[in-house]
Amino acid sequence: MMSLALRTPEAFDPAPPNPAPEAPRLLVAEPCLGLEEKAALAEVIDGGWITMGERVRAFERAFADAHETEDAVAVSSCTAGLHLIMHALGLGPGDEVLVPSLTFVATANCVLYVGATPVFVDIASSDLPLMSLEDAEAKCTARTRAVILVHFAGYLVDPEPWRAFAAKHGLVLIEDAAHAAGLPGAGTLGAAAAFSFYGNKNMTTAEGGMVVARDPALREAVRQARGHGLTTGTFQRLNSRTPTYDVTMLGFNYRMDEMRAAVGLVQLSHLPEWNETRRALTRLYRSLLRAECPEVSLPFEDGRPSVHHIMPVLLPASADRQAVIDALAERGIQTTIHYPPAHRLSFYRAHQSGITLPATEAFAARELTLPLHPRMNQHDVRRVVTALREALVA
Ligand SMILES: *Cc1c(COP(=O)(O)O)cnc(C)c1O
Repeated sequence: MMSLALRTPEAFDPAPPNPAPEAPRLLVAEPCLGLEEKAALAEVIDGGWITMGERVRAFERAFADAHETEDAVAVSSCTAGLHLIMHALGLGPGDEVLVPSLTFVATANCVLYVGATPVFVDIASSDLPLMSLEDAEAKCTARTRAVILVHFAGYLVDPEPWRAFAAKHGLVLIEDAAHAAGLPGAGTLGAAAAFSFYGNKNMTTAEGGMVVARDPALREAVRQARGHGLTTGTFQRLNSRTPTYDVTMLGFNYRMDEMRAAVGLVQLSHLPEWNETRRALTRLYRSLLRAECPEVSLPFEDGRPSVHHIMPVLLPASADRQAVIDALAERGIQTTIHYPPAHRLSFYRAHQSGITLPATEAFAARELTLPLHPRMNQHDVRRVVTALREALVA
């Protein structure tokens, strides 16, 4: 799913047992990469400067513009970006950070990277699988310093109640915006946000991420820590007379390279149209599912701002989810689960035992993610809904 590799070339499979007359495989996510990205990569290779140069800077500027923020810092992944944010904020041992459990494990891991403690918070409900304000309130202690919000599935977390919550408790508001590239408002809720360009996200550089931060000082601390805390980058040194540098803080190698930035610039230019396709496909999914699979419930209300990163549905409690997954897979339709709750993963269970988050657990037990990406069309959506309907009656 994530690789740029082509589908099994016939050269490796000269005589397939079944010439496969059925429809092609539908994946949960697929990157949209083509001639423009190839040309952009070729230009970098021909140009000779392959990392942290003008394209990385242009990508940062373009991404910041698209998200109506002042500036941005390109990094090697969203995880790296979140780590840099924790680091630049000076969070560490003794500090607690509220995080959802219904998320990718990176949201919690970045807190542990700096020695702070992630505190898992439940979702509001199965209809609104975003962090619960009420539970966040209950999990707040004298040690709580920050909260990391996730725009799960691409749906915007309500900015105002969370700003009020953060202000009331003196917390730093951070966004894990991995699902939210191109979402108006994402990246501007609080102090800082990290976006992901992993292969299954709304836009991709294969691996990559972007940090936005309101306070220029925080942003520049992230920028400097991205490259080992050096006071100048290689590119700046090329263009200046002082070939030396100083290191004024502990940093990391979380840089982005020119090849990824070149791909990112192309991808960013298509993001609005791709997000629009996701919206149309989601709308069709929701109306077909309501008509044909009324026993399946659909999280989120219709009007919530979203970039429709994934298509989560809740199977009826009585359904055998694995049987549904298998039935769809037999018809060439991949499905996944978002997410196994982080607090239930072995590592976190060993780390913090005895946590229960009833709404998160109930949601995760029934959730199924259907294919959704801009290379799909309405026939693909119909095919998935028909297959799901038939799997549920089987
Ligand atoms: C993908 C994802 C990440 C990690 O992004 P990387 O760029 O792979 O580090 C973090 N949080 C969420 C919610 C994600 O979906």
